[in-house]
Amino acid sequence: MTGGRARSAVVVGAGLAGLTAAEGLAARGLDVTVLEARDRVGGRTHGIEVAPDAWIDAGAAYLGARHTELLDLIKELGLHTTPTTMLGASRFALGGHDGRADGEHATRDGRFPPLNAVALGDLFDHLAELTAVVRPEAPWLTPDAERLDGLTAAEWAEQYLDHPDARLFFPLFLGEMMAADPAEVSVLHMAFYLRSGGGLRYLNAFEGGAQQDRIAGGAHLLCERLAGRLAERHHGTVRLGTAVRAVAQDADGVTVHSERGATYRADVAVVALPPLLADALDLGPARPARRAGELTGRGCAVKVNLVYPSPVWREHGLSGWSVNAEGPLLSTVDDSPAGSAVGVLTGFVTGAEAHRYAALGPGEQRAAAVAQAARLFPMLPEPVGFHVTDWVNEPYSKGCYAALFGPGDWLRLGPTLTAPHGRVHWAGTETSTEFFGLLEGAIRSGHRVVAEILDGEA
Ligand SMILES: Cc1cc2nc3c(=O)[nH]c(=O)nc-3n(C[C@H](O)[C@H](O)[C@H](O)COP(=O)(O)OP(=O)(O)OC[C@H]3O[C@@H](n4cnc5c(N)ncnc54)[C@H](O)[C@@H]3O)c2cc1C
Repeated sequence: MTGGRARSAVVVGAGLAGLTAAEGLAARGLDVTVLEARDRVGGRTHGIEVAPDAWIDAGAAYLGARHTELLDLIKELGLHTTPTTMLGASRFALGGHDGRADGEHATRDGRFPPLNAVALGDLFDHLAELTAVVRPEAPWLTPDAERLDGLTAAEWAEQYLDHPDARLFFPLFLGEMMAADPAEVSVLHMAFYLRSGGGLRYLNAFEGGAQQDRIAGGAHLLCERLAGRLAERHHGTVRLGTAVRAVAQDADGVTVHSERGATYRADVAVVALPPLLADALDLGPARPARRAGELTGRGCAVKVNLVYPSPVWREHGLSGWSVNAEGPLLSTVDDSPAGSAVGVLTGFVTGAEAHRYAALGPGEQRAAAVAQAARLFPMLPEPVGFHVTDWVNEPYSKGCYAALFGPGDWLRLGPTLTAPHGRVHWAGTETSTEFFGLLEGAIRSGHRVVAEILDGEA
């Protein structure tokens, strides 16, 4: 900002990034208003109560020891983590690739799929090589960036993966890690994402990795408590149901316009939205550099939570983990809430499969998921609860788990990813080159923007 100390800010978006920024600015004395389109805070975190006082995550859920700013925040807010349960054998339905007849299931200790070990080893070696060369703080400066950014992950797989088992497993892996269809994401983005999140092994691991723990009571509590603290301690305001359409600026400040015609005036604005939504805002005649391009994709995830009277699979030596070549549930995990008797099996429907599943009616969605869960875990009774969270069609997310940078995006968008547009500053997990796409990235982007605004003071 130019022209002296900022005294007020409007933050657009009450997700984890926006609320972190709002709290940081308010704690330093700024008068802060947060404008949120939905009728709740939290954005891509969302809790569902599946039994009295037992909550599950319909959005973000997992974290690990390297998510240091998230762990600090959890502590500060009086929250706790609970380990992700991963004891027992896994189930696999890999469409005949494991030597079984198509449709048969394999049970195995650990999480390594019953596929050709050399072929999967080669796949992970290739990915590790790509991950090692990428420059995580500036992917567009990676050696050979132009070629890597011009190639989709699907084209890369076509060129580099010979073995049918590697070709089968690669899209399942990318779906689980990034909710990405390989055709939608550039190789540079894939390599960057894996590196930014701590590397292949860390991102993919439960014990010792990025999926080790969950937040007891649900990740949505982070944003609920941040919003509460903003109001109580710092007299900040969060206005729900207030979708922003435009941010204008002049020599003295910004004017933020809501869809319904209200205006909010402040010294600076923080736009804490996913890139496709930030790009759609009207930012006045002097448009900023683009936030998203024609090929920027949306990570596509539908989360299915099946609730049972107890986690009965555990009694049969099974962890609840499964990997499946056929949908809708491409993987499942035991998400039973700690301290409750109920068992919750979460199914992930990602990438291209998410589009197919999202297009079904509620009855068909339920029938397909319940039948597949019963094939994987034949001891299951009828579920007592069933929840589908369709992030594919969420108008205020447009990218779940996160936006996917497509061919050309990093070269075009990367250099101006965080550059303020006059009095408008950018936050959101997709503006963080550290832990991009994750809760940790959202918090880091919020902290960066606070420092940026305060450093800009005269
Ligand atoms: C199914 C799923 C699973 C995930 N799993 C994990 C995980 O296990 N671990 C992990 O670390 N991360 C995970 N993530 C990613 C994580 O949720 C995100 O990285 C993080 O929540 C992003 O926070 P944010 O504040 O940047 O964006 P958001 O949470 O998207 O916040 C943006 C806010 O802006 C609001 N908004 C949008 N448009 C407007 C507008 N025009 N005007 C006003 N407000 C607007 C939105 O409603 C939203 O509240 C997952 C996400 C999903 C969906």
